[in-house]
Amino acid sequence: MNYDVIISGGGLLGLITAIGLSCDSVSVAVIEKNSLPRVVDDNRAFAISQGSKKILEKLGIWQFIESEAEPILDICILDAVTVHYNHKMVGEEPMGYVINNATIWNAINNNFLNKLNIYSPHSYKTIACDSGYVEVILDNNQELISSLLICAEGKHSKLPELFSIPTVKFDYKQSSIVFNVKHELHHQNLAVERFFPGGPFAILPMKDGYTSSIVWTEKSGISKMLMNLSEEEFIVELKKRFGSYLGKIKLEGERKLYPLSFVFAKKLYKGRVLLIGDAAHSIHPVAGQGLNLGIRDVESVIKHIVAAKASGIDVGSSYLLKKISRNRYFDNFTMALATDGLNRMFSNRIFCAKALRNLGLIAVENSNFLKKSFIRHAMGFI
Ligand SMILES: Cc1cc2nc3c(=O)[nH]c(=O)nc-3n(C[C@H](O)[C@H](O)[C@H](O)COP(=O)(O)OP(=O)(O)OC[C@H]3O[C@@H](n4cnc5c(N)ncnc54)[C@H](O)[C@@H]3O)c2cc1C
Repeated sequence: MNYDVIISGGGLLGLITAIGLSCDSVSVAVIEKNSLPRVVDDNRAFAISQGSKKILEKLGIWQFIESEAEPILDICILDAVTVHYNHKMVGEEPMGYVINNATIWNAINNNFLNKLNIYSPHSYKTIACDSGYVEVILDNNQELISSLLICAEGKHSKLPELFSIPTVKFDYKQSSIVFNVKHELHHQNLAVERFFPGGPFAILPMKDGYTSSIVWTEKSGISKMLMNLSEEEFIVELKKRFGSYLGKIKLEGERKLYPLSFVFAKKLYKGRVLLIGDAAHSIHPVAGQGLNLGIRDVESVIKHIVAAKASGIDVGSSYLLKKISRNRYFDNFTMALATDGLNRMFSNRIFCAKALRNLGLIAVENSNFLKKSFIRHAMGFI
């Protein structure tokens, strides 16, 4: 079968790319090693920025998610100094939204999958990248040909190595425990982030007002120990971090553990292979920006490929891939650096680092200009 574009990896970013490209008459195939439609077996949630919401709206996906999205109106950073960001400082729109992973998947499963060319559960056996095309042989020996292969395989992708794309990789030696909490008082659409020596602790407001999604990051050994605690023992530790501002709390559903590592591709393409999403940049979740960054990759890829196709330009040409790469590199690089720096700066007990970050927080709290620029950045308006 011949396509304009083959996407390897049918996670959220691979499928959103396919949805956007297919709408604009580019022929696309998606290869996903796990079964699709995806059955979501976790209760994780994403903080989606205002910028990402606008992109999803343009792609016709947001309308299926909107009713389940809880607006984030205020953000509070609690350390030795408290910094409070209010959305009204930059306008009337919320800074972002908290959305269940399951809600996004249901929207995709029920409204888009049947319109896409999906090869799942499959992966490739071989990939040959010629000067004029890419030939992919699947594990069932089916042959797919395209002008471009987009790799959306996530942070464990082997493709960068296979195509000798240089990447920086390291283990954070931290893991995040993700779970939901029910609380007695309404969250008032406030997202809270606290910092402890083991890592950040985020509380994200969810639909119904009395549930929050928690991303609790700790050194990997400690987080494994926390996962092994009984619910009663876990709640005792949780209360020490959560505090009492939302009254009584109780766990809702399972806790899931996510080991954290950093991946950053120094080049976004090689030959006719282009990396997007976590395959290109897997960043620390301290600011909840990984998926948002990937959604901005997707927007850029769709814009450039659709325009190229309309003008008869080869969608896998190095001219086009260089253009996409130039468009995305600075945003990807600065976000990877900023999130890594934030985690290093806040997750330690070193006196100088603590003093420096307190000075930084005081400066931000007292400067409308700095606050507004941080809010705009968190909203995804770069
Ligand atoms: C604890 C935690 C909290 C987070 N919170 C937020 C948040 O609040 N907001 C935010 O913006 N981001 C957040 N992120 C980041 C976000 O989860 C990721 O950036 C995003 O899920 C990456 O999506 P992806 O589609 O690139 O990769 P993935 O979701 O990893 O998808 C990759 C897909 O490729 C498939 N695949 C892999 N190899 C192959 C192959 N060889 N052949 C075929 N298919 C293959 C996989 O099966 C999978 O379906 C968080 C991350 C963590 C760890």
